[in-house]
Amino acid sequence: MSDSREPGFSTLAVHAGAQPDPSTGARATPIYQTTSFVFDDVEHAASLFGLQAFGNIYTRIGNPTCAVLEERIAALEGGTAALAVASGHAAEHLIFHTLLSPGDEFIAARQLYGGSVNQFGEAYKKFDWNVVWADIDDISSFENAVSDRTKAIFVESLANPGGGVTDMEAIAAIAKKAGVPLIVDNTMATPYLCKPFEHGADIVVHSATKFIGGQGNSIGGVIVDGGTFDWSEPGKYPSLSEPCASYQGMVLYETFGNFAFAIACRVLGLRDLGPALSPFNAFLLLNGVETMPLRMQRHSDNAQEVAEYLAGHDKVDWVSYAGLKGDKYNALAQKYCPKGAGAVFTFGLKGGFDAGVALVSNVEMFSHLANIGDTRSLIIHPASTTHRQLTDEQKVSAGAGPEVVRLSVGIEDAADIIADLEQALAKL
Ligand SMILES: *Cc1c(COP(=O)(O)O)cnc(C)c1O
Repeated sequence: MSDSREPGFSTLAVHAGAQPDPSTGARATPIYQTTSFVFDDVEHAASLFGLQAFGNIYTRIGNPTCAVLEERIAALEGGTAALAVASGHAAEHLIFHTLLSPGDEFIAARQLYGGSVNQFGEAYKKFDWNVVWADIDDISSFENAVSDRTKAIFVESLANPGGGVTDMEAIAAIAKKAGVPLIVDNTMATPYLCKPFEHGADIVVHSATKFIGGQGNSIGGVIVDGGTFDWSEPGKYPSLSEPCASYQGMVLYETFGNFAFAIACRVLGLRDLGPALSPFNAFLLLNGVETMPLRMQRHSDNAQEVAEYLAGHDKVDWVSYAGLKGDKYNALAQKYCPKGAGAVFTFGLKGGFDAGVALVSNVEMFSHLANIGDTRSLIIHPASTTHRQLTDEQKVSAGAGPEVVRLSVGIEDAADIIADLEQALAKL
């Protein structure tokens, strides 16, 4: 490609980060299924271990197949660098491990994936990392939650499961004023539908398990560094701004500048905590990424049709899909996700909890399972499954009350998806 043009999104989804294998000419990215890599000589080894040269040492810290995935997601999001890890939760964990010290706080939207609510609210107590909840429907709740221990703000662009759209620019302004990075979980939207870095995010995180891989076959996660945040304030983010004992006193932000955050997550977080992505999973995720633009448009178009159908059904109490005219998030969806409001949304059944349980038993083509972002249409009743560990109040505020059913609309024919719901609703 000539230097004069910027390649488009679909081109990057197929090509970014990859080239024919230099030693074999293989066109698909090979699976470098190896634990370790031979050094050229002692000096080469020393420079790799001292971070003076980039290269491969050991697959826990980096691997060439994983590196192609990292470069591709960084290109698609418009970030400076990325780190691929074993799961979305591992990605979230390495971000917070890099940013927080015991006693620190971060602000998170209540409207989050149920697993993240647990991770932040329960598991992090053991580290004395303290989450303060805020509400995307009340932007001032983010401002009011800021304290002198606040180190980050975390939101989802499109919230799982409720499908709410976060006003990222308003929250980015609060983060900027507080001098902390805005972290956006872009799992539900993907960079095809939404580009958080264009709206003030500093760090983007993905569960690649969902729409990036897109075929329901691999768990993975990605951290993307936007390169926008100034980490130099003394003492505030010691992993980045203070001399690093395990790298001869190197200050990562001084040495690596606008991709220092991604480096810190790798050489301190991934190295020491260990949730490495397997090269095989990286290969499967990369194959998924190639078709992400096509899939996301189809997912969104199908979801729009299904949401409109459900909104007109007499057994359905309400439908919460930001793509629907009149939905409270419709204006935000048009601003942040103009190509479509994604595949995942919730609706409420007039028959309540029991109707939710019956519906997931009645469907035939839909799969009843705890995932989103598969080519196949998926259904779940959160109150009896993914969100059952939450209190009733947390369930309702996470958009997972007793009558709520969540769909992840697949890329089958919309008419077949609707026909399956039709027969399942008829039996209620
Ligand atoms: C699934 C999910 C996660 C967690 O990712 P895993 O790959 O399952 O660890 C985080 N955030 C969102 C929005 C998710 O949907």
